[in-house]
Amino acid sequence: MKQKIYVTEPSMPSYEEYCNEIRSIWENKHITNFGPKHDVLEANLATYLGADNLLLYTNGHLALEAALRVLDLNGEVITTPFTFASTTQAIVNCGLTPIFCDIEPEHFTIDTYKLEKLITKNTTAIVAVHVYGYICDYKRLAEIAKTYNLKLIYDAAHTFGCKVDGTDVGSLGDVSMFSLHATKVFNTIEGGALVFSNSGLLTGLSAYRDFGIFGKEDIENIGINAKMNEFQAAMGICNLRRVDDDIKKRKMVSDRYRQQLKDVRGIYIPPEQPDVKSNYSYFAVCFNKDKSGKSRDEVNDALMKHDIYARKYFYPLTSEYSVYNGKFTKQETPVAKTVANNVLTLPLHHNLGLENVDRICEIIMDSVRTYT
Ligand SMILES: *Cc1c(COP(=O)(O)O)cnc(C)c1O
Repeated sequence: MKQKIYVTEPSMPSYEEYCNEIRSIWENKHITNFGPKHDVLEANLATYLGADNLLLYTNGHLALEAALRVLDLNGEVITTPFTFASTTQAIVNCGLTPIFCDIEPEHFTIDTYKLEKLITKNTTAIVAVHVYGYICDYKRLAEIAKTYNLKLIYDAAHTFGCKVDGTDVGSLGDVSMFSLHATKVFNTIEGGALVFSNSGLLTGLSAYRDFGIFGKEDIENIGINAKMNEFQAAMGICNLRRVDDDIKKRKMVSDRYRQQLKDVRGIYIPPEQPDVKSNYSYFAVCFNKDKSGKSRDEVNDALMKHDIYARKYFYPLTSEYSVYNGKFTKQETPVAKTVANNVLTLPLHHNLGLENVDRICEIIMDSVRTYT
């Protein structure tokens, strides 16, 4: 039987490399609370991501909540529902009201032309999501944020190491959040990082991850516990050594999918962005049943029959979660709705052989071809 293929696989160092990296932890007994591994990873990542300021967190979600808290927002935050549960939950957990803006149909990021209409006197921020490795229309977002005096936060969970017009993606907006979760391009098992240019945020964002404690005994602001421990940091130090190589392998997989699927009827593949250096986080395609004869769910079922596990990512829209029923006025987001119903994220990771990519494409093409 052929091996099962999952949508992703975590990138890990060899067992020996990791053991070597953690040996010193047994000598210094410093297992968490800003130990030497933590500080090395913080410095190495800041260099790698070209960050003026970078802080580590125990995961990406709490990093995002830290940003929303410390920027001291209130009222309404404009965001998109085409994202992972975390983005919307961070907004809601911080006592803010999410206002759902539609996405643009090319790369599925926030539609800056629909955004302005949603701004009210209660709007204090925009939380925009870079999707799959595609970058938002950052120029227009910066203009809008400036015109209306809004904070601009990026959920950059998918765009570790990406650049746009030669600029590191983390330097866009007021704060960018990177997730370093096991499923992401670069991982610290669980982990997250905030990147920002304004050094004035450093004390607040740093203290927030450790109960608001900063140096002295008194606590001036409430925080949470979101510290990255030494074992996570050690994993990150090891994985950072291979990340460029992993991204190259991802590019090969992604290029192969593009090549194989480009002329298949009824499949939409977001085009590469010429100004972006991508990290090839995810390879997502949309199926138009009217043209291809097969729905996303039918193609997904065909893949599952061959033990290939793609993912409906993102589906459903976060605005559709029953927990939010009756809680917020839900704007219509027709493009987001259509994309969520038709999108399928295909297996893509550093360890996926091109022969498996070919097999996946064959199954998709067969599935679409049987249409008459
Ligand atoms: C993974 C992810 C998060 C959450 O990050 P964690 O590190 O898992 O907490 C947030 N937003 C998006 C878009 C993600 O993909």
